[in-house]
Amino acid sequence: MLDLTATKKILSDFNILPRQSLGQNFLISKSILRRIIEISDISDQSHVLEIGPGLGTLTSALLKCAARVSAYEIDKQMIAVIEQRLKDKMNLALYQQDILQVNLRKLYAEESNLQIVANLPYYISTEIIEKLLIEVPNAESMTLMLQKEAAERISLGPNNSRYGPTAILLKLYGKITDRVRVAPSCFYPQPKVSSQVIKIKRHPQSVLFSTRVKIDLFRFNFFLQQCFAQRRKTIRNNLNNYFKNELLDQITDKIEQSDIVDLKLRPEQIPAEKFWQLYQSVANYIDIN
Ligand code: SAM
Repeated sequence: MLDLTATKKILSDFNILPRQSLGQNFLISKSILRRIIEISDISDQSHVLEIGPGLGTLTSALLKCAARVSAYEIDKQMIAVIEQRLKDKMNLALYQQDILQVNLRKLYAEESNLQIVANLPYYISTEIIEKLLIEVPNAESMTLMLQKEAAERISLGPNNSRYGPTAILLKLYGKITDRVRVAPSCFYPQPKVSSQVIKIKRHPQSVLFSTRVKIDLFRFNFFLQQCFAQRRKTIRNNLNNYFKNELLDQITDKIEQSDIVDLKLRPEQIPAEKFWQLYQSVANYIDIN
């Protein structure tokens, strides 16, 4: 475990200044590291996907309990540190890549023992979570450190002005089973915000997982984004903006006949399961190109 002194020493040895623009706040708290490993429930069968390994503090703990770890880090200076610190670890696959550019579905969607564990870069945490839910809903669980407000927002239900696509995807994937509060003092340098670790466990019957072969989840997410494009407007008006052609009547008729939702409702009033049904009834009309 790299504590404050060891973290500062490594940064100075490698002549690195932490980059705020990449969300580089390194974990220095032993007790939080221990909690992350405890709640993530990793076994010697697990293949762990880690995003943003940084100096390798979490990576090194994960390598001790998982069968293997695949870690994606954008910053080549971090890669140089990990390559030196963890060079003898045969169960680590380290990639210098922007996680948002990686085709996770192609690489990992068929794996049965996949688990995600990451101290996320906060500036793109929502995009990363959406990507994970859409591309690798086969993951058994996701244990993620994120900004406290972001953790709260993605766990909201309907009738809240901050409820949106990520919360809907999360609800259809699984359930938050653990939350750990993390103070700014647990990192170096200290972030200006508080953090939270959440563990999201996949539902045994998660629709994102069980129907992913038949239903294209990229299109589903695109559909959600359209429905929330103007959250103060009704679902009908949001669909109106998207389907600006003769299809609109056909689509709205179909929705009205199926009685799934009242199109006069605003998107934030509709529960996740209803969005799923709504999407299935209109999926054939959606073109994301
Ligand atoms: N895991 C380390 C820890 O716990 O101390 C570092 C976590 S730090 C909050 C986030 C890490 O994500 C940084 O190392 C940063 O360089 C990396 N990162 C930022 N943007 C990224 C991206 N688009 N793809 C992959 N890694 C990224």
